[in-house]
This record gives sequence, structure tokens and C-alpha cells, in this order.
Amino acid sequence: MRILLFLLMLLSSAPSLAQEAILLRPARVFDGIDPRPHEGWSVLVRGERIEAAGPEIAVPAGARVIDLPGMTLMPGMIEGHSHLFLHPYDEASWDDQVLRESTALRTARAVAQARATLMAGFTTVRDLGTEGAGYADVGLRDAIAQGIVPGPRMLVATRALVATGSYGPRIYDAAAPLLGAEEADGPGLVAATRRQIGGGADVVKFYADYRWRAGEDSRPTFTMEEMRAATEAAHAAGRLVAAHATSPAGMRNAILAGVDTIEHGNGGTAEIFRLMREHGVALCPTLAATEAVARYRGWNGTAPEPEGVREHRASFAAALAAGVTICMGGDSGVFRHGDNGREMELMVAGGMNPADVMVAATSGNARLFRIADRVGAVRPGLLADLVAVEGDPTRDIGAARRVRLVMKGGALYREP
Ligand SMILES: [Zn+2]
Repeated sequence: MRILLFLLMLLSSAPSLAQEAILLRPARVFDGIDPRPHEGWSVLVRGERIEAAGPEIAVPAGARVIDLPGMTLMPGMIEGHSHLFLHPYDEASWDDQVLRESTALRTARAVAQARATLMAGFTTVRDLGTEGAGYADVGLRDAIAQGIVPGPRMLVATRALVATGSYGPRIYDAAAPLLGAEEADGPGLVAATRRQIGGGADVVKFYADYRWRAGEDSRPTFTMEEMRAATEAAHAAGRLVAAHATSPAGMRNAILAGVDTIEHGNGGTAEIFRLMREHGVALCPTLAATEAVARYRGWNGTAPEPEGVREHRASFAAALAAGVTICMGGDSGVFRHGDNGREMELMVAGGMNPADVMVAATSGNARLFRIADRVGAVRPGLLADLVAVEGDPTRDIGAARRVRLVMKGGALYREP
């Protein structure tokens, strides 16, 4: 009986899924790699993968055809820096989220936020720390992968790592330390790195600097030697390393320690960005987070810009001038999940051309995160993570927010 049931399941599910074909016919295809879209191309999807893309694709027998007039079909976008377990700081302060919201509440909210992210056309996220919600990101990642809840593919960092005393909340009680990340130092940092990888981390995140007291400048936390040892342990396990750093000294230590990406880089100088370029370290600028925080403090978005916004804009320009590889990542969670496109608009406002921003948000991030063999481009054989937007985002970046169709792994989550 059991065997018969098993055979019936095989017959009813697997073959039909594998053979289902969908032909998508947009006005143009942005393939994620070539900055110029291909006018008049179509894309054929079969099962979970892209089977063909090009100008003259015949409709296979039995295929479903979806016409997308005026739209650009492109790879699902990749958010390079999210926190699905945080929500906007004008709804609740970061301290209150970490100290007062239960892990169950935060996880339920993260489920909704994962869905909002997917519906905005982001089919993959690199989620850089649960900020006090332990390893709950591993469970969310796996629930999405198993089709239990809708959401983007997730690369998760779990708890993330900080040097002792260098993270919030600042209401610190040694008897009940509730922190936004895991403290570790010296050889203990290597042990904690391995513990997080063992617990499910796809990427290792640590904080290279910190504002030790309000009103002070950000200063280094870990030594270069500590970060070098942790980075070696992560790389040995096949995990990339993301380092939070906003000060020139913190950035320099992280670069020389061999990390793969630097997050924020607000205070980066021309010299530091030259060093990043030499060492092949990419920058994830998170301009949208800086802007959001300034707005929460009362800035109305027009001149005069607050000092922090001005400084970040200048450092982004210096990074571009130095030829640093730019990751697209906004630090969503500080602001609303689903508003991920805000970072892309700020990158364009900061001097990057829209087509380069679109490449960064697709094949660029895929290459940086070493997932380009699966996602990030419209290429036969890759997973069918596809998005259609109204207009052409390589000319008008605002089009990236006008999402009308979302497909992930060949499954449609949103259609016009
Ligand atoms: Zn962050």
C-alpha cells in the first residue's frame, strides 16, 4: 500500500512540474550582464529553469504564453544587505526590537517581510544578522526553501560577531546579557565563527568598528590579527566574510584581514578605497539606511543635508572614482522591506549610471556572493528567477520599483 502511494505521488507531481513550459514575451530582456537590453527577446521557462532566451523562440506545444507589453524582463534582483528580523526604526527603536520583542513575534514578522521582499522583485537576499533573534534566520531560510512560506532565497549570517563590549543594546547587565550579536575575542572569535557556521551560517558577518560612546567617532574593535584568523576559518569552511566598518581605521584592518565585502564604509577616504580595489574587496554602501536614519531624526529630505548624509554621499563618490566593485545592498529593515529599490535610486543619485546599478543588483551581486552558477542572469540552465517591470530600468531606475511579474524557480508569485 505504502509503495503504491509512493508511486502515485511520483507520477502525479514530479513529471508534470518538470514538463510545464511558460513562454514570457516582454518588450525587451535585460539579461543582468549586458548593460543594453535586448529588444524583442522572449524567455522560455521549463520546470524550475530557463530553457532558452532570444529573439525567435517558437511556442512549444502546450506551453503557456504570458505577454508583457511595454515591460522589461530581467533576473530577479538580489538584495545584498538585509535584516528580515528588523523593522523600521520609526516603528520601534532598535533597542526595543532587541529587548522587548519576542523571537516568535520577530519571526512571524520576518515571514511577512520575506514575502514583501519577494513581491518587490528581490528573489535572493544576503541577510546580515538577526540582531538578537539567534538562529531564527536559518529556520526562515529553510522554510522558504521547502515552500512552506513565500520569500526570497536567503544567504544568512545568523547571530553575527562583535568584540566584547562593542555592541548594543547599551543597557548591559552581565547577569542577563541580551545583545544584538555574539561577543567573542581572540581565539574565541575563531571558535564562535565555526559555531555560527555549524549552526547554519552561509556567510560570516563581524563588526570591525564601533562608536564606543555616544558622541565619539567610530573606532576599531577587533585587531587585524583577530579578523584575519576568523576570516581564515570562514574561508576554510567555504563561507565569505562581510565586515561592518564605517571608519578608515576599521575599514583598513578589515581589508588587510582579507574580508570579502565591507558594509557601509561611510567614512571611507580615497586612499582606503584604493586599498579596497587593490585587495578586491567590494563595498556594500547602504546609502538608504543613512538616509532613513536622518529622516527619523527629522530631516525632510531636502537641503541642507545632515552631515552624515553628506559624508556618505561623498564617500560613495570616492569609491566609484577609485573603481571599487559596488554591491547593491541598502540595509533593509532599518527601512521598510519591499522598499529595497530605494538604495538603487540613491546609487543613481550618487553618480552611478542606471544600467550599472541594474548589473550590480543582478549578476554583480550573484558573482560577489558566488551564486552566479544558479541565479543573477537570464541564461539557459540558470534557475528561472525572473521579474518583469514596467519601463526600462537601465534608463530610468525608478522602473525597477514598478514590478508586475515575479517568478522564482519557475513558480509564479505575481503576474500582471
Ligand atoms: Zn546591517
